[in-house]
Amino acid sequence: MVKPKVTVATNEILIKNGFVYDPANGINGDVKDIAVQNGKIVEPSKLSTGAKLIDAKGKTVMAGGVDIHTHVAGAKVNVGRMFRPEDKLHDPGMERSSKLIRGGGGFSVPTTFTIAYRYSRLGYTYVNEAAMPPLLARHTHEEIRDTPILDQAAYTLLGNNWLVMEYIKKGETEKLDAYVAWMLKATKGLVVKIDDPVPYFDVTPKDIIKGLAGTNERLGLPHSIHLHANNLGHPGNYTTTLKTLALTEGIKTHKKSGRMQNTHLTHAQFNCYGGTSWKDFESKSSEIADYINSHDHVTIDAGFVTLDETTTMTADGPMEFSLHSTNHLKWSNADVELETGSGVVPYIYDPKIHVCGIQWAIGLELALLIKDPMKCFMTTDHPNAGPFTRYPTIMSWLMSKKARDARLATLHKWVPERSRINGIDRELTLYEIAQMTRAGPAKALGLGKKKGSLGVGADADIAIYNYNPKTTDGTQKPEAIIKAFENAAYTIKGGEVIVKNGEIVDLGTTKSTIWADADGFDNKEVTNDIVEKFLKYYSLTLNNYPVQDCYINNPTVIKCGPLAGGN
Ligand SMILES: [Zn+2]
Repeated sequence: MVKPKVTVATNEILIKNGFVYDPANGINGDVKDIAVQNGKIVEPSKLSTGAKLIDAKGKTVMAGGVDIHTHVAGAKVNVGRMFRPEDKLHDPGMERSSKLIRGGGGFSVPTTFTIAYRYSRLGYTYVNEAAMPPLLARHTHEEIRDTPILDQAAYTLLGNNWLVMEYIKKGETEKLDAYVAWMLKATKGLVVKIDDPVPYFDVTPKDIIKGLAGTNERLGLPHSIHLHANNLGHPGNYTTTLKTLALTEGIKTHKKSGRMQNTHLTHAQFNCYGGTSWKDFESKSSEIADYINSHDHVTIDAGFVTLDETTTMTADGPMEFSLHSTNHLKWSNADVELETGSGVVPYIYDPKIHVCGIQWAIGLELALLIKDPMKCFMTTDHPNAGPFTRYPTIMSWLMSKKARDARLATLHKWVPERSRINGIDRELTLYEIAQMTRAGPAKALGLGKKKGSLGVGADADIAIYNYNPKTTDGTQKPEAIIKAFENAAYTIKGGEVIVKNGEIVDLGTTKSTIWADADGFDNKEVTNDIVEKFLKYYSLTLNNYPVQDCYINNPTVIKCGPLAGGN
């Protein structure tokens, strides 16, 4: 008898019998099959008999991770790489070059390729560069294009922009809408990022936040405003944070996005500080958590401190100057004409210093005191509070009180006195971790159907971990959490196997740059204003400003605005 030839369908995968954690679809650890066809999730019945089989028995299956806020591409990241050659000395495992892998490294500011390998090993498939100065957008997109595997988007910095402030000052909301829509097109950005809004004549930070939040919703953008709040990193700043969050109460979230919030407060840990100086510094996380528990217009990402030596970098230039004045380490500062600025300073989060220990506690407290993990997401504001490669360690602290207590025991004695971490018994479940790392950030970005989900029609971005929730008690064996989530058994991106047993086996072909295109807001007077600003003040001509299409790698354009039914 001649056996029929079995041909494997290369565009189909059946992941069998894994414990599936998919909060976007309410699936909590059920043993299920997940089917992939042509880069999308489909019903298992749709597959042919030749689908590639992956046995996930005894393993944990989640959607690919989504990082809502990280600094991985652009001018200031590159400054960090250049002025911290010593960063490579802290890297425990430099990437060795091979036919597939480009050699590289860096503990807190890795090379573009290394960033992609390391996120992929963690099971992450989509990451957002959180601060793109418009004038330097081309550089940001060049680095994004240079970063393999991962889908990426960039957040356009608009909080300190000259024309934004002028339109807000004059109360010209239509012009503000037109200008922001033009800016997103010119920079190929996804999100309106507001960094430490500064007063300008009679425009207050309050006006800027309210003005841009309104514009954001009228434009029908997928994500809300993404806010780096004022007074970041200073003792006593929690009152500013509460006042800031109150500003956008009542601004309507446009319907099409599917998100609930109109404001995303980023790296909130840095904004939950009590005390009047570093001496009497204390945690005020529960005040912020209480506010978030009782309001639905805000989501946050935590900005967990990992207690490492790292590199801080932000568009909040004055904050970096104050950091440099405190730690006296080297300092880089840059002004981006008419638009924004930036600073870079190395930082050592020393476990023996009470402030660092309390910062560590604050991040964890936020995640444990905020009841709904769909409102609080996993970030370290990479690399500001620590490198993203520490996410599995953070998971172990969130999932195991034993792990928290062990770390707390090594910290300054004031940490338990000036924080609440000691009294919190909550241990997050895998379902809640999947909310914090996948479903939550994807929904807040307005991409919940496509990303962070294993539902039919979603991108086939999938992570499989060697973690058996039935036989492994992570609360008692936190080291098992770290081991499993540091090196995925499989990472599948767009239906292609990228990681197998913690090794990169392919770079894939589906990497895409996502940006938001809001149509229907053209305004002649705004065009004239832009032309005039460039003639008078910019050091380059307008024609050289917008990022040309050829810089954008395999674009995914999200059409929004009234013409796309955005409102
Ligand atoms: Zn940041």
